Amino acid sequence: MARIRFRDVRHAYPPPKGQQPVYALNEINLVWEDGGAYALLGPSGCGKTTLLNIISGLLTPSEGEILFDGKEVTHLPTSERQIAQVFQFPVVYDTMSVYDNLAFPLRNRGMDEKLVRDRVEQIAEMLDLTANLKKRASGLTADGKQKISLGRGLVRSDVNAILFDEPLTVIDPHLKWQLRSKLKELHQQVGMTMIYVTHDQVEALTFAEKVVVMYEGTVVQVGTPVELFNRPRHTFVGYFIGSPGMNILPCTIDDGQPVFGTNPLPVQSRIKNELSGKLEVGIRPEFVEFAADGIPVIIEKVEDLGRYQVLTLAHESETIKMVMREDQLIPSENPRIQFDPGHTQVYCDDWVVEEAVNE
Ligand code: ADP
Ligand code: MG
Repeated sequence: MARIRFRDVRHAYPPPKGQQPVYALNEINLVWEDGGAYALLGPSGCGKTTLLNIISGLLTPSEGEILFDGKEVTHLPTSERQIAQVFQFPVVYDTMSVYDNLAFPLRNRGMDEKLVRDRVEQIAEMLDLTANLKKRASGLTADGKQKISLGRGLVRSDVNAILFDEPLTVIDPHLKWQLRSKLKELHQQVGMTMIYVTHDQVEALTFAEKVVVMYEGTVVQVGTPVELFNRPRHTFVGYFIGSPGMNILPCTIDDGQPVFGTNPLPVQSRIKNELSGKLEVGIRPEFVEFAADGIPVIIEKVEDLGRYQVLTLAHESETIKMVMREDQLIPSENPRIQFDPGHTQVYCDDWVVEEAVNE
């Protein structure tokens, strides 16, 4: 196992003739701690697969270095990196039995047949494949084949890390839940570094200790699910994580305080006045509440989601979402709202404005 580090990594695929290269990954500096359970979360096209392929060595980055435990591996081939990778679609040898498919990565490294059997049986048991071990892989359903793929990723215990690239996309929702729990369990048992790629926030937040959020080729935040919820460092994290996502509203700064429309917003510490760029204030729907002397709003919609309600509010041309527990009351006239100062954050050109250090 190893600590995996990215130092100033950038990557551009070869551009079509006559065109300038476009970077699929912008400068990435990142450490994957040994034994961590990470989710790599971001929308389609943001560079997740590119990043995984750089870790496993399927791709050499255009710039920068990859280090495993401080040793540079940027140009080492995949076979010398000891990385297991599970892809989005099943990679199995159709003509081989399920057993032989699972045994393949071990036999390939010359493991003793008895040890191979122990390990294959153990992994098959975990993935509910025991009854299918003698069958040909071609006879299995898409779910079954993807389980073999997962098994092939998990079977080696000598790897530096296991990379899962949206491995449960083709799997039915119930089984998906089961398999994800199994992966998590396995992580707790063997403590191997796991990087799990997904574009689904629920999947990311339930699997990982740390979530790496990517947006347009950049890692915008690495944090625990709680950190991503409470302190999004980038408006994309605010918007992408949470349901509904964070309200991002235009603002100005006056005397160290954000102002939304004509409404000054209390915050915990003063904001620098000399910011230049697009200024916005972010507040999660969970931290908006009704208050007698707050900002006047119109209630446009109330959605009852069982334990809580989601309200759509309007203040002039801006829409604000609010989450309320079902036992809280909606004012019958002149509704006004306020934002929790401890959760009101200012963003400049999409990046959070660090709180000013008290002078
Ligand atoms: P993700 O896995 O997050 O969906 P990818 O890493 O596959 O994203 O892609 C990142 C960007 O790189 C996208 O704009 C994609 O079109 C581009 N890209 C990916 N693979 C190639 C390739 N082989 N050649 C050229 N462009 C590519
Ligand atoms: Mg991908």
